Amino acid sequence: MSDVVIIGAGHNALTAAFYLAKAGRKPLVLERRHVVGGCATSEEFAPGYRSATLAHTVGPLRPSIVSDMNLERRGVRFVRPDPRIVAPSADGRTLLFSADPARTAEAIRPFSAKDATRYPEFCTALARAGDFLGPLVDMTPPSIDAPSKSELWELLKTGRRFRALGKKESFALLRWGPMAVADLVAEWFETDLLQAVIAARAIHGTAMGPWSAGTGAILLLHAAVDPAPGGSSVSVAGGPGALTRAMADAAREAGAEIRTGVEVRQILVKDGAAAGVLLADGTEIVARTVVSSADPRRTFLGLIDPVELEPGFITRIRNYRVPGTVAKVNFALSALPSFAGLAGDPAKALQGRVHIGPGIDYLERAFDASKYGDLSPAPYLDITFPSIHDASMAPAGRHVMSVHVQYAPYTLRSGSWSSLEDTLAATVLRTLEVSAPGVTSLVEHRQIITPLVIEQEFGPSGGHIHHGELALDQLFTMRPTLGWANYHTPIDSLFLCGAGTHPGNGLTGASGRNAAREILKAPRTARA
Ligand SMILES: Cc1cc2nc3c(=O)[nH]c(=O)nc-3n(C[C@H](O)[C@H](O)[C@H](O)COP(=O)(O)OP(=O)(O)OC[C@H]3O[C@@H](n4cnc5c(N)ncnc54)[C@H](O)[C@@H]3O)c2cc1C
Repeated sequence: MSDVVIIGAGHNALTAAFYLAKAGRKPLVLERRHVVGGCATSEEFAPGYRSATLAHTVGPLRPSIVSDMNLERRGVRFVRPDPRIVAPSADGRTLLFSADPARTAEAIRPFSAKDATRYPEFCTALARAGDFLGPLVDMTPPSIDAPSKSELWELLKTGRRFRALGKKESFALLRWGPMAVADLVAEWFETDLLQAVIAARAIHGTAMGPWSAGTGAILLLHAAVDPAPGGSSVSVAGGPGALTRAMADAAREAGAEIRTGVEVRQILVKDGAAAGVLLADGTEIVARTVVSSADPRRTFLGLIDPVELEPGFITRIRNYRVPGTVAKVNFALSALPSFAGLAGDPAKALQGRVHIGPGIDYLERAFDASKYGDLSPAPYLDITFPSIHDASMAPAGRHVMSVHVQYAPYTLRSGSWSSLEDTLAATVLRTLEVSAPGVTSLVEHRQIITPLVIEQEFGPSGGHIHHGELALDQLFTMRPTLGWANYHTPIDSLFLCGAGTHPGNGLTGASGRNAAREILKAPRTARA
């Protein structure tokens, strides 16, 4: 009999496996793909070209997880680029975001002296909010109905920290959460491009636009892991695959077993408790504990016999929203593109992310199209060049360009994604030509990953990059659903550890570690 079976080998499952193994448990990790990493891989898509297949920045991963897993000593090289973000404007100028707020303020000055003055103040406000929210990322959301003594203690500590913020900052925090991020940024800045770059983090991967209520909360959620305005640009040399391979090594070394190419077809339940898994090849693995890193919909609606779950719970999981809005296109380029208004060596200037979305209205219009089931004709793009940090990702002198395309709605008004692939690639290049003239002529190969492909090949239901919408009604005590935010499930000894649980905001590892902590606290069953 296995001790713990973990379904999937994404970064959260690998984190959970590591902490469970460190604590003396014997996790067996089963991954249906041929590689570990889930949505964080670096795979070859054309001869000699590897890209960050889906995710291109990494969280950032919680620093304590990086040190516990000894990731840097295992060869993971985190890249903290400067400039962090390159943002072309509609008038041909380019705004560079540096790691240093004072330098960024100077870059903002030609756009607006007033904004340049306010920028460092905004950085401080966001950093203070991030400091307060950071510990919430690493805690298990408390039960609303019957909080335990330790949960009450944690809540008390949070309340004290909230009071310590002072009146002005605590009121601002309460106000920002429910706001539309467009209103929030307009209170601080007058430059449309600056507003758009900051607001974009709040809509990244969601089915919301900058004018959607509650996007302020998503900005704060991201600030909790990296408060830099515009969001994290931390990446890993070699792409996220280099990170998750090292995480798998750490988990193995701690005592976990990882098998790839193994699909779980069903979670077996006996007397209301998880009893093991049935594999696609018909093999049964009996286990004391089962942990799923698949998203909540796939886990409860796809892997469990419905008779094992209350109809009310099934309804709540059906109501858990997974409206994917992101497509990914990886390009093989003969050279780095030249962006208008960007001087100097492109390999230096393009180390971080390129943000294409020059204004709030641009972003909202991009969202508008997706509301009615259409691909945005002028999408918001978030771009990186992973080959700048690891030359082995492309043949000598050549490069890979990783493009996050939003909005590409999973549910189309008409037609199918398989017939829209060429349109998607053409739309990306047409949009990019405005800021990087001639980029199309550099393209040698491309890999098109539509929301449907994200779901079918990589797993997340609805192709949702966060395993479920990040929205006020699906965060913290409500992720994935009220009453079950503590990584437990209505089935005894079945736990969740993927991004569909709190906090679930990118490659932070927090969901995996929080889940491992709850699993270790739970009484072990002796069932055979
Ligand atoms: C296009 C895209 C772009 C993104 N960009 C970024 C970014 O730039 N920065 C960032 O921080 N985050 C980004 N994200 C989000 C980030 O990748 C995810 O939040 C993160 O990978 C989730 O990790 P996870 O371990 O919870 O789940 P996953 O990475 O989804 O891993 C789950 C694993 O479970 C496996 N699985 C599912 N069902 C079964 C089964 N029945 N049997 C066996 N195995 C199974 C899947 O194959 C998968 O490997 C992006 C995601 C996508 C899709």
